[in-house]
Amino acid sequence: MKTTAPDSIERLIEGWDGEAVVTRFDKPTGTWIFVALHDTSLGPAVGGCRLRAYPSPQHGLRDAMRLAEGMTYKWAGIDFPFGGGKSVLAVPGPLDGARREGLLRRFGRLLNALRGTYVTGEDLGTTPEDMSVIAEETEYVHARPGELLDPGPYTALGVFAGIEAAVQECDVNGGRIDGLRVLVQGVGDVGEPLARLLAGRGARVLLCDLDARKAATLAGDLGGTAIPAAEAYSTECDVYAPCAIGATLNPGTVEELRCALIAGSANNQLDSPRVADRIAQRGIVYVPDYIVNAGGATALPLVAEGADDERIRERVLRVADTVRAILRRAADAGITPAAAADERVRETLASAARGELELSVS
Ligand code: NAD
Repeated sequence: MKTTAPDSIERLIEGWDGEAVVTRFDKPTGTWIFVALHDTSLGPAVGGCRLRAYPSPQHGLRDAMRLAEGMTYKWAGIDFPFGGGKSVLAVPGPLDGARREGLLRRFGRLLNALRGTYVTGEDLGTTPEDMSVIAEETEYVHARPGELLDPGPYTALGVFAGIEAAVQECDVNGGRIDGLRVLVQGVGDVGEPLARLLAGRGARVLLCDLDARKAATLAGDLGGTAIPAAEAYSTECDVYAPCAIGATLNPGTVEELRCALIAGSANNQLDSPRVADRIAQRGIVYVPDYIVNAGGATALPLVAEGADDERIRERVLRVADTVRAILRRAADAGITPAAAADERVRETLASAARGELELSVS
């Protein structure tokens, strides 16, 4: 994250295209609390609560606003009746014990004051235990204690379905997973189950991770190949699946890529929107991250509804339909898939704002 001095809090809020920012300074802990509500046309804003120390409150606010906008796109991308929101607890430093609990309880009571306009959940820096504390104060917690699940395998299932749809649409490897060379960058909560699904269907997996031993062990298990993390971009493959960190698609790496398709779980893969144009010029098809990585986001509300695994998997697999629709729209309009996905989201939000859309989780 950039640490250059950002604008003032007033300037940041004035310049934002979101709906509202709820701001509170928590005196007992010296924490700035920001709840950013980007767009609630589709329903109450649902998004996690990030807890971390930032160089300044403005950095925390900017993060909340950026993440809230991302949630608008994520929910609209899967046609779920939720709006985009996110909260940030910008703590002055490490916080635990009674001081942490006090902050979480006051945050929970703040959510009560918002009467469900924003529903929170886990994010970087917050834990299931933190959510349990918040849930003692408010009902506005996305996955209630006891309903928590690991979204990684569902995200992986969605990415797998998205890759299959994209190789069929773009006729890569004859539209088949069997024999497809997929480079999975990062074999963590999502990358590992994704590699297992792919290998199970006969794909040739190329695996890398900063933890080289982890990649080597999994490659051994799956009959794949481990490659050094530094060679993730330049290694020839059919599909590059970024499943590690954001912003791996930047002007430098895009020139190195030797793949036909990009589809993976990492959030915010494009370093800037312009990179999507260069990817297309290079003849590579980029499947937008927030579409293909939506499996975990799809699963969480269904779990809260008490859906069983079969129903959740069926809903997650619909990622494939969305990927197909976006790739067709892009091809028909002569635009990038990233632009096509954003266009589709804007249309969904506009229909909802006109009262023409009824969405449901199932
Ligand atoms: P994770 O932390 O479990 O795994 C990430 C793996 O990537 C780790 O093994 C790490 O060592 C490795 N890694 C980090 N930097 C790397 C690099 N430069 N090169 C190679 N490997 C590197 O995370 P995760 O839950 O698997 O999520 C992966 C990505 O997908 C993240 O960007 C996350 O935000 C995104 N995402 C995850 C989910 C989910 O359900 N977990 C949902 C949507 C998006």
